[in-house]
Amino acid sequence: MLHTTTRRPIPAVEMVDKITDEWRSKENHLAEIDPWRPAWRVDLSDFPPVAGEGVVFSPTEDQLRRLQEVSTILEEAPAEVILRWAIDTFFPKLTMATAFGPEGCVILSILARLEPRVHVFNLDTGYQFKETLELRDRIAEKYGIEVEFARPELSVEEYERQNGGPVYKTNPDRCCYERKVLVLKRKVVGYRAWISGIRRDQSPHRANAPIVGWDKKFGLVKINPLARWTKNDVWKRILAEEIPYNPLHDQGYPSIGCWPCTRPVLFGEDERAGRWSGTGKTECGLHLADDQPPPPPPTTYGNL
Ligand code: SF4
Repeated sequence: MLHTTTRRPIPAVEMVDKITDEWRSKENHLAEIDPWRPAWRVDLSDFPPVAGEGVVFSPTEDQLRRLQEVSTILEEAPAEVILRWAIDTFFPKLTMATAFGPEGCVILSILARLEPRVHVFNLDTGYQFKETLELRDRIAEKYGIEVEFARPELSVEEYERQNGGPVYKTNPDRCCYERKVLVLKRKVVGYRAWISGIRRDQSPHRANAPIVGWDKKFGLVKINPLARWTKNDVWKRILAEEIPYNPLHDQGYPSIGCWPCTRPVLFGEDERAGRWSGTGKTECGLHLADDQPPPPPPTTYGNL
């Protein structure tokens, strides 16, 4: 059910159109965002926080319909409006996972203006590039946002010892599951919604990502404020606002994950071609719609 407040009685869709038009016409939009709180309200108060690790709530059809309603309204809205809505609706039970990709850095720059206390974490698998780890400090310095490192229980040394060597070489799906997906499941306990930096044009898996949707794998509302953005949009914003970014992007790495599973791309290759190159794997599993059982333990060693 869509409610219109007396504070700003503009029909929801018209309001978002108005914001978008005004937004697009501004040469310098930096200072103009906070007054633009949505005039509408879709009640999502019956979406509970994640009750425990792996305990997943199942929304009713009516709840899913309301999420879709919000997503439709916000489809054309600027990322700032989407995030303003997310904060007003879910904060402080709102979290964000970032790998410090360019999209994540853009979102952090917006959160810094809207609500820097939103909890943000990085899945630190133990295999990240040092440039990625250093970016955390540069973000903290510029925006005052201290991104928390969320780590698996086992260190890289313990994990490799227990498995007879690096699991990324033999079974990257299992490695991602154990060092990313399980860690995220643990980290989102107590939260109602999470923000992600995925874009629809990044891969076929992401092509239908809504602005706001239900993430049944993690039992959370998922907000994708940059879903409509292109790579160009992201980099225009980064350069215009001097947002810190990973220096590896200037060395041929358009998409950066763990160092063993990331290579620079060649001219003309897809921006994600350097991730798990040669394995057929394209996603770590965080953004796939359905949960998957943990892949079986490795039996033979192969090459990535
Ligand atoms: S990206 Fe590679 S190293 Fe990182 S968790 Fe996945 S398989 Fe393991």
